[in-house]
Amino acid sequence: MSIQNDVTSALNLLADFGKHTGVVIQSCLRRSTADVKRLIDIGARVRLCKGAYLEAPDVAFPDKKDVDLQFIALMEALLRHGNYPGIATHDNRMLEHAKAFVTREGIPSERFEFQMLYGVRRDLQERLRKDGFNMRVYIPFGTQWYPYLMRRLAERPANIVFILGNVLKEGTRKS
Ligand SMILES: Cc1cc2nc3c(=O)[nH]c(=O)nc-3n(C[C@H](O)[C@H](O)[C@H](O)COP(=O)(O)OP(=O)(O)OC[C@H]3O[C@@H](n4cnc5c(N)ncnc54)[C@H](O)[C@@H]3O)c2cc1C
Repeated sequence: MSIQNDVTSALNLLADFGKHTGVVIQSCLRRSTADVKRLIDIGARVRLCKGAYLEAPDVAFPDKKDVDLQFIALMEALLRHGNYPGIATHDNRMLEHAKAFVTREGIPSERFEFQMLYGVRRDLQERLRKDGFNMRVYIPFGTQWYPYLMRRLAERPANIVFILGNVLKEGTRKS
């Protein structure tokens, strides 16, 4: 689908469902700079993440450094001009950059929110709340939880240890 068509779809959704309709943008995609510019122009709500899916190199940056650089550039644009953007990451470097940027630019904390997955980096989630930032926790639900869990585990195998540890802890508590 072309950028023009995507933006038209976003406009239709905004007309039907109002300003709470959100669009997810992945900083790994080469097209995202153009998409974010258009979405800012139409006042759409945007969640910015790095992107969880493997894409061809002509579509997405193969090098993580480029994904992070584009994340920072898009995050700054959204924080400056976006409509209550969601900054969805567990990456402490991105979070520290966002905090320093909003302080420097005088952007109030009510203008945006941080977003993290349920159960991931709870320490960071609590710290951000204590520091006065809005924090949304993402909870997947419905019948597709198993493929979702498998995708998250494939993305970060270290989570297998984390989940097993919690299952064992829960089992010990019940017995
Ligand atoms: C709220 C939310 C919604 C999302 N929605 C989408 C979506 O719609 N589409 C999509 O493609 N992707 C989505 N994602 C996934 C996202 O694109 C990334 O794959 C995922 O967030 C990992 O990237 P990262 O920014 O956390 O940092 P990464 O670059 O993966 O990791 C950087 C550092 O962050 C920390 N970290 C990262 N993940 C974990 C973890 N699981 N546990 C502990 N520490 C961790 C580690 O210190 C790591 O070194 C979403 C993520 C979040 C938080």
